[in-house]
Amino acid sequence: MPYNERELVAKCMGMLYQRGLVTATGGNVSARNDDRSFYVTPTSLLKGEITAETVSLVDFDGNVLEGLHKPSSEWRMHASIYRAFPDVSYVVHAHPTYALALVRRGLKFSPITEEASILLPEGVSVVGKMVPGTWDFAEAVASSLKGHKAVLIEDHGAVTVGKDCVEAFARMDVLEQNCKIAVLWHLLQKR
Ligand code: 13P
Ligand code: ZN
Repeated sequence: MPYNERELVAKCMGMLYQRGLVTATGGNVSARNDDRSFYVTPTSLLKGEITAETVSLVDFDGNVLEGLHKPSSEWRMHASIYRAFPDVSYVVHAHPTYALALVRRGLKFSPITEEASILLPEGVSVVGKMVPGTWDFAEAVASSLKGHKAVLIEDHGAVTVGKDCVEAFARMDVLEQNCKIAVLWHLLQKR
């Protein structure tokens, strides 16, 4: 039986958690509902504990249309991305370790594996440190996605987008895997 939108958003977060792409309290996932609203994971719950019942439907102004839980503190970022990109239906925000190490070291992401060159052919943009949850942060992330499907946020995390859960999740997974290869390659060079 296919998942409904709430179940799929919760499942996507569960997979991010299992893969170690999010921390206990960092990261969020959303799915577009229509041109005014989206489903989003809750704030203030451990990421390993998110179930379909805790996912809310919110409008682009952050009003909860359905659901009992307070939506992610990054709802502005999700809304800004859906507003700017009508072809985007899924947004994944994670806190991936190797990607953060790479950006902190000032190294540029470039696709290494075949999978990465298919999923992220244009590479990844980078935004500097900003206060999370603000409109400034939301707009900086959305504008850095012009021409890209992924953005790295210095000392914070990464955002990937896609037409569905599979695409957005796979982009985050392959982004982190390629950053891991790059970091290990740099370490091995030093031996
Ligand atoms: P939420 O738990 O409010 O979704 O925030 C987590 C996060 O990653 C903030 O950038
Ligand atoms: Zn975050």
